[in-house]
Amino acid sequence: MAQFRNFRMVNYVVYGRGSFNQLDDILSPQRKGDAPMIFFVDEFFRDNQAFLSRIPLRGKDKVVIIDVEHEPKTSGVDKLRDELKAEFGEVSGIIGIGGGSVMDTAKAVALMMTNPGSSVDYQGWDLVKVPGVYKAGIPTIAGTGAEVSRTCVLTGPTRKLGMNSDFTTFDQIVLDPELCKTVPDNQRFYTAMDCFIHCVESLNGTYLNAFSQSYGEKAQVLCEEVFLDKDQWDDECDEKLVMASYAGGMSIAYSQVGVAHAVSYGLAYVLGTKHGIGNCIVFDKLEEYYPEGVEKFKRMVEKHKIEIPQGITKGLTEEQFESMISVSLGMKPLWENALGKDWEKIMTREKLRALYERL
Ligand code: NAD
Ligand code: ZN
Repeated sequence: MAQFRNFRMVNYVVYGRGSFNQLDDILSPQRKGDAPMIFFVDEFFRDNQAFLSRIPLRGKDKVVIIDVEHEPKTSGVDKLRDELKAEFGEVSGIIGIGGGSVMDTAKAVALMMTNPGSSVDYQGWDLVKVPGVYKAGIPTIAGTGAEVSRTCVLTGPTRKLGMNSDFTTFDQIVLDPELCKTVPDNQRFYTAMDCFIHCVESLNGTYLNAFSQSYGEKAQVLCEEVFLDKDQWDDECDEKLVMASYAGGMSIAYSQVGVAHAVSYGLAYVLGTKHGIGNCIVFDKLEEYYPEGVEKFKRMVEKHKIEIPQGITKGLTEEQFESMISVSLGMKPLWENALGKDWEKIMTREKLRALYERL
């Protein structure tokens, strides 16, 4: 392996309130004959005609409403790919408009339009061999950093793991803070804390370098400005949070996440706990690993009167605990980033079991 990571980034970024209106111009040069653009849209916008009518449909273009009750699954991705192939043969591109769930679905389906087999075959690192079709991401909720990352996280038959590859990154992203206006307070907090936790984990990790630090520090400050310094949510908060998500994503692109993510993956796999809230549930108990970050987190929770669920692992079977522990310990780079090369001596199965029991 090369000594330095050579990172593929998003090709084009447009930022600004109202920039969504430029979508038609942005997509025009990407259209291939009469092959349609497919717009994956978060189910929140299902009945929002005012918003749907702003999507620049041409020719055979289609809007597909994406159900986000559960996080994306390999089976769902394969099914969407099969349906699009059956209906259109080829498409010009896939545009994901929504949160991490919809953006990840868009990335995965765009890749599976050209890569053979099932998305299960590509869960891992650098398994995707050919570029997918054109893809663009348009976040409508801020925090995951999925708009900039080189992965799309999928739950498959045996694991929750992304399709990490140079081909996974979006060709274009549209960052329009206006689109985030309608996110409910609790959800906004959980997803934003994904960003805050990315920063804390990156900044306190052994993989840290000046590249990651520069983005991580800025993203963390932006989160603190909106959740600790401000007394009322306003447009400027959405603008800052969209940029925090972007910078937080850039920070982990060149480092790694840590304990909260490793533990929360276990919860997601066994209990289906969603990423944002799962990270909050875990991070709330990580004072031993991230004392300063957890202290700030608790202040934000209190200020915004957010409820962090407690006791979610009560009554789980031995088998369920064992499965959570195995999934979590399987995230080796995360643990190594958090605890160093000797992490296996520090985070034993017993110690992790005790942590899961506190959640
Ligand atoms: P999400 O996409 O699941 O959306 C959360 C909720 O917010 C949904 O109910 C959705 O309908 C609603 N919503 C979205 N936009 C809205 C708007 N403008 N107004 C009102 N409601 C709105 O949540 P998320 O936290 O953005 O994403 C979580 C997913 O992202 C997980 O599947 C996780 O695995 C993935 N993820 C991916 C990466 C990556 O690098 N690819 C990184 C972190 C997380
Ligand atoms: Zn995350």
